[in-house]
Amino acid sequence: MAGIYIHIPFCKKACTYCDFHFTTSTKYLNEMVEAICKEITMKKNRLENQQIGSIYFGGGTPSVLPTAALQQILSRVEKHFSISANAEITIETNPDDLTALKIAELRKLPINRFSIGTQSFFNEDLVWMNRAHNSQEATDCIKRSQDAGFENLTIDLIYGYPLLTDEKWKTNIETAVALQVPHLSAYSLTVEPKTALAHAIEKGKQPKVSDDQSAAQFLMLMHTLAKNGFEHYEISNYSLPGRYAVHNTNYWKGVPYLGIGPSAHGFDGCDRQINIANNAKYLESIFDNRLPETLEQLSEIDRFNEYVMTSLRTMWGTSVTKITSEFGKSYAEQTLKLITPFVKEGKLTLQGDTIKLTDEGKLFADGIAAELFAENE
Ligand code: SF4
Repeated sequence: MAGIYIHIPFCKKACTYCDFHFTTSTKYLNEMVEAICKEITMKKNRLENQQIGSIYFGGGTPSVLPTAALQQILSRVEKHFSISANAEITIETNPDDLTALKIAELRKLPINRFSIGTQSFFNEDLVWMNRAHNSQEATDCIKRSQDAGFENLTIDLIYGYPLLTDEKWKTNIETAVALQVPHLSAYSLTVEPKTALAHAIEKGKQPKVSDDQSAAQFLMLMHTLAKNGFEHYEISNYSLPGRYAVHNTNYWKGVPYLGIGPSAHGFDGCDRQINIANNAKYLESIFDNRLPETLEQLSEIDRFNEYVMTSLRTMWGTSVTKITSEFGKSYAEQTLKLITPFVKEGKLTLQGDTIKLTDEGKLFADGIAAELFAENE
């Protein structure tokens, strides 16, 4: 079943490390909602009448939208697409938005999953990140959501930043476990170019991020969550058995999805469609009846490399049989040759026809995948 991703490009504050597409001005919020609805209509014939198994409101911070606006967008999706009765419908939220009133309003929509941008349970860390919420709000909103019946929750945490001692990281993980969230995404802080954090580091106002700290905290996370019954089903994602994120899992499995909103990406099973990451130009184009997207045509090599990159990061691993059937015997033979040194080093295993990362290998996931890539002649 296909998916729909809807990008809501508004945030209350700019987090220091963030390079997603957003604005802190809500001046054109109403126009944006109108444009998003219009884009859904303009793309109504995409996905070839497939059922929709997941809808994902990402951003930005979709929870800054009034509930009526979310309803308006969902109604437009329902009008043009056939949504499966048990579709996963996720909204990314920030703790400060999840008041009792907002949660009660959202409960009346078909949304059935919250992704809560928690990042840390420590105030000083949240201030350092320039987050809009505090630690009390981080815990309160999780309990409040659960009490209101939203038990399908995931929270985001960040590790590997200078303020985060191992002791604090342990507390963050244990707090998440104690709060009984069934799913957790954790990302090592990466310093993206042109962010406030990158500028501060360049000027010597912030220390550099340490790879050793990041690796140690990744291992701590992996082991603590495993002890608490979580499956490490993708490099950055952990869930209690069977509670995998449908929408994200489908990305990794190459399932088609529609991308709606500025900067959103779509995938039709062959090529990628990329919307312009500029709100003014997005609005202008949509209201001028032109889709603001560019097409990225994926070559066979691109598709192979994407398959290796995404599948290797998951617990299901990379299937040699699938490589043979979808790309041909030569790709499979080359892959088996290239994995040999990593298998000897204990970073990869080959069980039956499946290549998987070991715990040691997970520290080098992207680097190993890159070594297995096919190259243009
Ligand atoms: S709330 Fe999320 S999207 Fe918005 S600035 Fe912070 S990290 Fe970026």
